Amino acid sequence: ARVRPDATTDMVCGYCSTGCSLRVHLKDGEATNLTPATEYPVNLGMACPKGWEALSVLDSPDRATRPLLRDQTGRLNPIDWDSAMTTFTDRFKAIQAEHGPHSVAFLSTGQMATEEMAFLGALTKFGMGLLHGDGNTRQCMATAVVAYKQAFGFDAPPYTYADFEESDVIVLVGSNLCIAHPIMWERVMRNPHSPEIIVVDPRMTETAMNASQHLAAAPKSDLSLMYGIARILIDNDWVDRDYIDQHTNDFEAFAEHVATFTDERVTADTGLSAKQLHRFAETIHNGQRVSFWWTMGVNQSHQGTRTAQAIINLALMTGNIGRPGTGANSVTGQCNAMGSRLFSNTTNLLGGHDFTSAEHRRKIADILQIDEALIPRENSLPYNEIMEGILRGKIKGLWVVCTNPAHSWINQNQCRDILDRLDFLVVQDMYSTTETANMADLILPAAGWGEKEGTLINSERRIGALKKVRKAPGEALSDFNIFKLVAHYWGCGEMFREWDSPEAVFRILQRCSEGQPCDITGIEGYSQIDATGGIQWPFAKSEGDKQKAEVAAERRLFADGQFFHPDGRAKFLFEAPRPLTEPPSRNFPFILLTGRGTVAQWHTQTRTGKSAVLRKLSPQQIFVEINPADARALALEPGDMATVASQRGRLQARTVCTHSVQPGHVFIAMHYEAANQLTDAVFDPYSKQPAYKACAVQVSRV
Ligand code: SF4
Repeated sequence: ARVRPDATTDMVCGYCSTGCSLRVHLKDGEATNLTPATEYPVNLGMACPKGWEALSVLDSPDRATRPLLRDQTGRLNPIDWDSAMTTFTDRFKAIQAEHGPHSVAFLSTGQMATEEMAFLGALTKFGMGLLHGDGNTRQCMATAVVAYKQAFGFDAPPYTYADFEESDVIVLVGSNLCIAHPIMWERVMRNPHSPEIIVVDPRMTETAMNASQHLAAAPKSDLSLMYGIARILIDNDWVDRDYIDQHTNDFEAFAEHVATFTDERVTADTGLSAKQLHRFAETIHNGQRVSFWWTMGVNQSHQGTRTAQAIINLALMTGNIGRPGTGANSVTGQCNAMGSRLFSNTTNLLGGHDFTSAEHRRKIADILQIDEALIPRENSLPYNEIMEGILRGKIKGLWVVCTNPAHSWINQNQCRDILDRLDFLVVQDMYSTTETANMADLILPAAGWGEKEGTLINSERRIGALKKVRKAPGEALSDFNIFKLVAHYWGCGEMFREWDSPEAVFRILQRCSEGQPCDITGIEGYSQIDATGGIQWPFAKSEGDKQKAEVAAERRLFADGQFFHPDGRAKFLFEAPRPLTEPPSRNFPFILLTGRGTVAQWHTQTRTGKSAVLRKLSPQQIFVEINPADARALALEPGDMATVASQRGRLQARTVCTHSVQPGHVFIAMHYEAANQLTDAVFDPYSKQPAYKACAVQVSRV
């Protein structure tokens, strides 16, 4: 019989960084179904298929329900929590005793609640004596973080989603918003100003199909393109001199740098025509409110940081920042990448502080009432160097929380070989069947979205509420409670006495944020976040007496032209473009592009692959998109199985012939396990983000 709900509650979605609010319908306090929340300022009554299906994936039969320990024969056997925690501490402590405290590391996620990330980071670094830990945010947002820090003085995306509706020119670089962030795309579609939409992407993506200008620049030529556009703007005096003089540094050196990016040079680099370049520049000039947006096509590149900064430079030099409908705007990937960036205690000390600053360490030690000497004085190794550390035998124990590197890390065969070398691998996850869990020595069963409390921070810096509307299956515990248990068994429980609930941790994090650009000391607590439809940072104490409407009002940064560098000015940053690290060759003549392939799947399909509806909405078999001319030359018909191989591995995929990829390129969606057998472990030198987007492959008929 149909269950009639007796109450509803609203909470933010746990997939992408849009941060839609979902209205969960309850019967006796348990979720029965959900609909999109209608009044929330982010999604205004809309949700994508992943959000609609958020509850169904909790019911999967492969949920981890008990701790599992692998025996000598390779079998996983259920054990109780006491044995799991004793094994966890005994094994990791033994490794530390033999190889030093830093021989154990952790990898976490942008998918947990902020309070859980903070607990993990504090527990491992202050309680367990670890130095090295990173998040899967390294795979999506590290480039934007570094780009903003260097240019603005803090990791501070300046925008609010209303900007999608207020721009008259919207420039999207390496962003298939229509598929990756469909509700943000709906905000573009609601824009009443008939905006010019310019898409820079080598593929004719769903977003590019709806653009007024599609610039199908050659893979990774976007840096050259942005410099060429800057040069045209300068040559025509289409720059905002007053803004540049009052609010920025190093423009003259930048102008000198871009002067060499002539039409001839940029057309040769990008494959675009001079007419396309000049039309692009003129459109920016004619716009009154121009917003620039970028996502993974920029971030996941061997020169991503400088490319992101080249986009920032265009916004700064034209004065398109700090006003409605403007901005140099990085669209985050995961639901809580922003929480991870500021509060995970991995790359930053809690609250966007710096591990290398004595003043910052003192401040955080005082707030937490811990010995300052417990706070590391140096930064963690980034993700790629943690992997290298394992390869070289320096790191012997790894705790993987809520992420799936055996599928998602670049150059998968090498990654699995590296994980195989560990003395002890612990995986903490909702499911016991992820590719990484299949390699684990110990699996800790974790609650998922909807089974625990906390907060998430979305792309526009809005803090939204997570709620418990289901009981986790079996003996699975929230990540928060697992961290409490670990602290107790490790012997540092006393240090976390105050950390007794997610909201108590939120209050600690508020104190850590005081005086920072991300100051959230003015938020009354979870109830205010819930009542106001999320609150965007900053929200300092001085704003604490604001009325509900003012709290909920859209907030953008830099309206006063003041940036976070000590002199209040933004910086122009630039560098000579570097060639593709693995250009096509005689043996590997195609460039492989990877990316999101469907609106209905999320990342490695760990969760969304469990929904029958979402499986129906997306191809379940790996496919390769190839231009029809190339397919003909290879005697490939639509639907044929093709072998795609790189220097690192090979896979078989169903052929899709489409003009959306240019001749010489092929595209494979990242959701399928095999895609990263091909990718090349190359990293941006500043952000250390992997360059997933371009490597050389060969294609043949099976
Ligand atoms: Fe919204 Fe993203 Fe969730 Fe879809 S996955 S409902 S777009 S937050």
